[in-house]
Amino acid sequence: MARPRSQLTGREMSVRSGPTWDDMLAGAPETAPDDPDLRGIEEQVKLSYEHAFMFYLPRICEHCLNPSCVASCPSGAMYKRDEDGIVLVDQDKCRGWRFCVSGCPYKKVYFNHQTGKAEKCTLCYPRIEVGLPTICSETCVGRIRYLGLVLYDADRVREAASTPDEKRLLDAQLGLFLDPEDPAVRAQARRDGVPEDWIEHARRSPVHALAIRYRVALPLHPEYRTLPMVWYVPPLSPVVNVLERDGFEADPDDVFPAIDRLRIPVDYLANLLAAGDPEVIRGVLRRLAAMRAYMRKQQVLGETDDAVAAGVGMSSADLEAMYRLLAIAKYEDRYVIPQAHTELAQRLAELPGTCGLDFEGGPGGCGALPRPAAGINQNFMLTRKGGPPMGRSLPVLNRRPEEPGR
Ligand code: SF4
Ligand code: SF4
Repeated sequence: MARPRSQLTGREMSVRSGPTWDDMLAGAPETAPDDPDLRGIEEQVKLSYEHAFMFYLPRICEHCLNPSCVASCPSGAMYKRDEDGIVLVDQDKCRGWRFCVSGCPYKKVYFNHQTGKAEKCTLCYPRIEVGLPTICSETCVGRIRYLGLVLYDADRVREAASTPDEKRLLDAQLGLFLDPEDPAVRAQARRDGVPEDWIEHARRSPVHALAIRYRVALPLHPEYRTLPMVWYVPPLSPVVNVLERDGFEADPDDVFPAIDRLRIPVDYLANLLAAGDPEVIRGVLRRLAAMRAYMRKQQVLGETDDAVAAGVGMSSADLEAMYRLLAIAKYEDRYVIPQAHTELAQRLAELPGTCGLDFEGGPGGCGALPRPAAGINQNFMLTRKGGPPMGRSLPVLNRRPEEPGR
């Protein structure tokens, strides 16, 4: 392996940080002991070092229901849009405090030293507004991403995030989600001004199906209490590999005793996706294995085995629908995104809570800071030399609509 050399002196260097540092497993001896994903399984992972595993976990902003980045911003520049829940940074209001950078437990806010502003994933909101998927979803060659709408009870977010037992947080978050097939939910949504086409999109939402109906998707680190809204389906293939290597069929009864021999320890997946509760992961893997066994019997032997579905508390129709969604879903089934309703924009801007500080009983003050007069440099002082010239307005990446009376 080539040794790193200084481009200034030509001497060998001892590099201690850099781009893709973690990806290349650099610094693992120093950083691994503090890795929350290894909590409780440090010895197991160290002892089986020759069975090292690696898998990529694509991570974008979680657009949390209870976003700590919004709560930690002293300028009220971070906000969660009422219309679609996307979390954005108002580039005009950001004053470069960077509390959001340390406040986000997922480390999804970045500081732009050129502009002196915080930046983050915008969930490609200009595309979402016109019913198109995000770029990372559209370009994913593995077609692993799904986008859809979920109805939830915003009034109970705080109660759910305050659930004392970490292991109950997943159920608390699931309890917030509303069933769009329930006529009472649809009637209440109409009374609350949710457009009819949004309600229909919620019924067809692939996210609702995977996370709530089939319970095979899980939130990343629910114990952070931000109630994240990007969920993950845990990998099954290592289970299947272990079983098939040992000559077993990949059916749920074989999977159950086998999952503790996974290369990726179940406890590791539990630390990632279930606040350390391995039973949640086992339940998801059993449902995925059942789907695989059911479809294999149906397509290879031409048999329909309802007992496989019943064994994991599902119906055969559910397993077939889950298979279609996970394996052969078309573009329009993976991305079910309603277009924005511009006629609602004004009403939403008038709602209390549109700013991180202006809520009932809150300190208020969002938008109270006057816009900097022309000629006042808005740049972060350390980058003044390389930044835009004095008085030039900064590009507005995602500016919220002006609120009336401000
Ligand atoms: S992941 Fe971080 S940046 Fe994104 S909404 Fe949640 S707390 Fe904010
Ligand atoms: S492509 Fe869009 S949604 Fe994906 S990470 Fe980038 S900004 Fe976020």
